[in-house]
Amino acid sequence: MGWQNLQENLILTILIKGDYIGAIEHKAETENISKVLYPNDMFAKGKELRLKQEYFFSSATLQDIIRRYKQKFSDNFESFAEYNAIQLNDTHPAIAIVELMRLLVDVEGISWEKAWNITTKSFGYTNHTVMPEALEKWSVDLLQSLLPRHLQIIYEIDRRFSEDVIKIYPNDKSKIDRMSIIKDETVRMANLSIIGSHTVNGVAKLHTEIIKQHLFKDFYEIFPEKFQNKTNGITQRRWLLKANPCLAELITEKIGNSWITNLNELTKLTEFIDNTEFLIRWRNIKKQNKERLANYIRKELNINIDTETMFDCQIKRIHEYKRQLLNILHVIHMYLEIKDFPERDFIPRTVIISGKAAPSYFMAKLIIKLINSVADVINSDKSIDDKLKLIFIPNYSVSLAELIIPSADLSEQISTAGMEASGTGNMKFALNGALTIGTLDGANVEIKEEVGEENIFIFGLTDKEIEELKGKYNPKDFYKNNLKLQRVIDLIAEGYFSRHEPSLFKPIIDSLLHQGDKFFVLADFQSYIECQQKVSKEYLDQELWTKKSVINVAKIGKFSSDRTIEEYVKEIWNLKKVHVS
Ligand SMILES: *Cc1c(COP(=O)(O)O)cnc(C)c1O
Repeated sequence: MGWQNLQENLILTILIKGDYIGAIEHKAETENISKVLYPNDMFAKGKELRLKQEYFFSSATLQDIIRRYKQKFSDNFESFAEYNAIQLNDTHPAIAIVELMRLLVDVEGISWEKAWNITTKSFGYTNHTVMPEALEKWSVDLLQSLLPRHLQIIYEIDRRFSEDVIKIYPNDKSKIDRMSIIKDETVRMANLSIIGSHTVNGVAKLHTEIIKQHLFKDFYEIFPEKFQNKTNGITQRRWLLKANPCLAELITEKIGNSWITNLNELTKLTEFIDNTEFLIRWRNIKKQNKERLANYIRKELNINIDTETMFDCQIKRIHEYKRQLLNILHVIHMYLEIKDFPERDFIPRTVIISGKAAPSYFMAKLIIKLINSVADVINSDKSIDDKLKLIFIPNYSVSLAELIIPSADLSEQISTAGMEASGTGNMKFALNGALTIGTLDGANVEIKEEVGEENIFIFGLTDKEIEELKGKYNPKDFYKNNLKLQRVIDLIAEGYFSRHEPSLFKPIIDSLLHQGDKFFVLADFQSYIECQQKVSKEYLDQELWTKKSVINVAKIGKFSSDRTIEEYVKEIWNLKKVHVS
């Protein structure tokens, strides 16, 4: 229903029924469906309005696709899948599989078999997370009350799929338990997406392997040919040309402007890594960008930061698996080192953290509180001589990212190995000449392959080592056996950063020490601080650091979204490329 129709509907209800309040209520309720997108970065269990929203946008899109198709082909749906590629960006629009079946069977009068053939040839599914609690699940009850016809269709898809599975594994009922769409009165949207699509893809090589070997193992065994990898990318038009105009200009002066549409052209920058004048200009541009951010921080947060210090940045959604906590433990560790050994050389740092938490994610909000509390103590301590500052920038957004990323010396990509599907922030930073400190997770693995291991700082357990540790891991052993870690944890636990409310951060301490530390923060602490020491040491040699910065930019071409999109075009959508002059 368009806006005009809603207005007419409202007027009719008022005129005919005289129910003014009821009409306004109805209008407000329907408008709510598309008013705001849910701000969660992962699935928030069973919110009715969210399912309505997903259905609203899916149905509107499909009805538009069908309207356009009919303008050309009338009622003949034979070529539908040849002319339409529908890509499910995560499971959020997965109900579209069921909606297309409903439109084809109930509205267009096509047989189930033909409709299913059209549907599965039209849909592709991109998975974005391996975290089980983030996979969408809707209760049968909710679907029954909101979309009863869709629930019937889901049962029928499930019945036919289960028959096929039983034929393949007649003696293994556990296969159906794991692969069916409906289990324990819940509808598993990821399973629906896999069953209803011709192709399933992950968003980085490691992520795709994890999908095939673990998360969707049973499906991979039956349909190995369905699974593909499409490593994510970012657009250089936004993340270099627009966000970092001075660096873009220097690059264009040296190698021409063809990198704007062909990012692999950046390899030509390797010619200049021994050119001292070029390296000085490169470094000066970084300095200018740091000044630009420092001005913002002075104006918005009333904090002065020194642009001669290393800018150490972690900007991303606040999530336990992304381990902002590990970063904070390192910040507190540095603070203690400076206080213990004031005469010792310390490479000064400005640690910058930004990111939003989902509204009901208690732990994420407490982590933000901890960052701000630690910042208050460190930034007001005159005795450390401005060697360390910690800045939390609120209201993280794309615009803020465009301001922060060009200023970064160090990019923090420190998720628990195996948990970050790809990451794209990692690519944006490297494109702007920051060096990465990171785990072998998501696309970090491929960034390392491209830039070379001497131009990236890798630490921590691998995804396989994490899998190995699961079930045996005792975080308290790491706490007991590491005095540096112990001091940092004890300082938070005793309320040093929350004097007015000493037990404020108890839930964080409990999750680390008494609830199994599910994100292996303590297990990676020692490896992380050792790697950070190496970072500091290398930052001392500004010429070498700048060379590595240039090499990162020169070798990051693979991560252009132009490459990603071309792979989807050729390998998933089977389209012919059209040249636009
Ligand atoms: C790129 C970007 C992200 C994704 O960052 P990751 O580090 O990959 O999690 C999130 N939010 C904004 C605003 C971004 O620009």
